[in-house]
Amino acid sequence: MTDYYETLGVPRDASAEQIKKAYRKLARELHPDVAGEAGEERFKDVARAYEVLSHPDKRQQYDMGVDPTAPGGGAGGGFGNGFGFQDIFETFFGGGGAPSGPVPRARRGQDALVRMDVDLAEATFGAKRELQVDTAVVCGTCAGDGCRPGTSPKTCEVCQGRGNVQRVARSFLGQVMTTAPCAACQGFGTVIPEPCPDCSGEGRVRSRRTLTVNVPAGVDTGTRIKLTAQGEVGPGGGPAGDLYVEIREKPHEVFVRRGDDLHCTLPVPMTAAALGTVLDLETLDGPQEIDLRPGTQPGQVVTLKGLGVGHLHAGGRGDLNVHVDVQVPTALDEEQTELLRSLATLRGEERPEPRLASAHPGVFTRLRDKLSGR
Ligand SMILES: [Zn+2]
Ligand SMILES: [Zn+2]
Repeated sequence: MTDYYETLGVPRDASAEQIKKAYRKLARELHPDVAGEAGEERFKDVARAYEVLSHPDKRQQYDMGVDPTAPGGGAGGGFGNGFGFQDIFETFFGGGGAPSGPVPRARRGQDALVRMDVDLAEATFGAKRELQVDTAVVCGTCAGDGCRPGTSPKTCEVCQGRGNVQRVARSFLGQVMTTAPCAACQGFGTVIPEPCPDCSGEGRVRSRRTLTVNVPAGVDTGTRIKLTAQGEVGPGGGPAGDLYVEIREKPHEVFVRRGDDLHCTLPVPMTAAALGTVLDLETLDGPQEIDLRPGTQPGQVVTLKGLGVGHLHAGGRGDLNVHVDVQVPTALDEEQTELLRSLATLRGEERPEPRLASAHPGVFTRLRDKLSGR
């Protein structure tokens, strides 16, 4: 008598769960796709062992020394009677049973992505923008069902509306029933006898639409604005996907954006920097007065609070940082030269000491810039 426990590689006191697990593992290893024909005999042995050991009454008989699968032996008769076919089917074909009924014709449309250029002022304050998109919309002629007006879908005669067909395949296990989508109706269960002339039965047509997009303050290159259900309508007039508008910020001529702060460079004549002055600076918020104190240094930063880009979805704004660029005159006439020489004499600077600055001025410079910031 064959040792079924040995065939499955389980102890004699193995639980039903252990037996099932061992069987499934072996069945997978001996699958014809894996083991080829060489595994066939062994698989039959394994299947027979499982047939016996998975049924409590047959296992009991076997344990008492009667092989329930032997011809004429044991209750329940021979191999194959009450055989756990479903288990084999699941092991080989992934389980889940037969596919369910027909698939609906209407499916959700795809999401779409469009790019939109905005300028710095729009990113700073937010904007309302019009956007033209080419997309799929529900066909007006058939209202999405794909049929010529006055006609309607008919039940598929090949699958009787089930959307799938059953086929009998032969394998070493005998005949196996498989289910596949119906080719005549692509699984829909219905066919369109007379397609709509405007959409060829698709239920949707391409169209150009104009949308209004609310661009919130603070958007930056890469920011995506989601417009729910403004993407393309699905096949069969299915629900529309979403439309994403991806922002690309155009560079500004004078302002450079870093996060929500803006930076610009302000050239100031040497004399104005030394004497101090008040300037009108054209910002995104209109002219702003800048008060340069006497002794303003090259690279000094004047910060105008709250004149930067709006914080996205948060309120408040970044700052505008004005970097002072002190301009040294290059062409002096005679009189100007005389005046500067007199100034140099007065300040004892005709022959300045060759005193080298520290290579690490960072702390001092940063501190000075901080203190001079408004
Ligand atoms: Zn149509
Ligand atoms: Zn069909």
